[in-house]
Amino acid sequence: MALLSIEGTAFDASTLRTAYRDSVTKLPDSSVHRKIIDNSTVAEPCPICLQNGDIGVEMVMLRCECPHWGHESCMAKSIFETGGCPTCRATQFSFDTVFLLSSACTNGDVSKARHRLESGTHHSSRDIFDGTPLIRAAQNGHREVIRLLVEYGASVSQEDMYHQTAICWASKEGHRDAVEELLLAGGDMSYLDSKGQTLLHLALRSGSEETVALLLERGIAGSAADSEGVTALHLAARDGSKELINLLIDNGAETAAKDKLGRTPLHYCAELDYGAATKLLVDRGSSLSATDNAGRTARELAQEAGSDRAVRALDGEPLSISIIEGRVVFL
Ligand SMILES: [Zn+2]
Ligand SMILES: [Zn+2]
Repeated sequence: MALLSIEGTAFDASTLRTAYRDSVTKLPDSSVHRKIIDNSTVAEPCPICLQNGDIGVEMVMLRCECPHWGHESCMAKSIFETGGCPTCRATQFSFDTVFLLSSACTNGDVSKARHRLESGTHHSSRDIFDGTPLIRAAQNGHREVIRLLVEYGASVSQEDMYHQTAICWASKEGHRDAVEELLLAGGDMSYLDSKGQTLLHLALRSGSEETVALLLERGIAGSAADSEGVTALHLAARDGSKELINLLIDNGAETAAKDKLGRTPLHYCAELDYGAATKLLVDRGSSLSATDNAGRTARELAQEAGSDRAVRALDGEPLSISIIEGRVVFL
């Protein structure tokens, strides 16, 4: 007899299996139909244990549509053992209606999503990871699916277990069109995550310039700082992105903003040796004399880090020029 030991207690395999079967007695409603046996019900034996259901007992039928009503624990056991319906062998995922809607939304399949909704799957049903169809569509940037779900009544303010809404996910993944569609549907631009980050911070982290531009165009504050004092301009400076630096400063971002280390965007840009972006930050008004909490200027940080291009830029020397892929690039 096969013996397994769990925390000092020995079980044989059949005891474990029985324990498992007895504990897995619930199947998601998205996988089964349900009915209670009553006097009017013609009792048909459960296809697994071949016992008839008693009056008052709830029986389930898998949504693969094989016409057998069985005990829920028997059906659960069968799914556990064989991976699907005992009759047609369809896997649970192939007949779980919530899973089917969720995967259509994840994949951007508008017609499959519409079919699921028309067949009665709820527009906001939660998948096994607590996401709604709208959140799945937003994460993957599927604008048409978002529009469809909103038409069916999905709310843009629903959060998942991470307290993130659909627009938050779309910003974080840099899906500009999805963000635009969610804003049309009433998505809230004042969202703050647990670190005090705005949608703008999240979009910056995605690196999607067009998502950042859209949020600024729609009026999100360009100067907001998270709970550690980090602004969107700090993030753009850390990436050395001239386009984003210009865009943010044009929209109210402050070059003098300091994070919890007392560092300005220029400190980061110079330390990381982005010559052209450092020059741009200086041209756009960054202070050369601002010091961090340790009393260091951007130049001192850059020098310590051996960031020669940035030091030259801070000293006002001309940038070095390279030709990359046929284009003149200032480094
Ligand atoms: Zn049974
Ligand atoms: Zn079946």
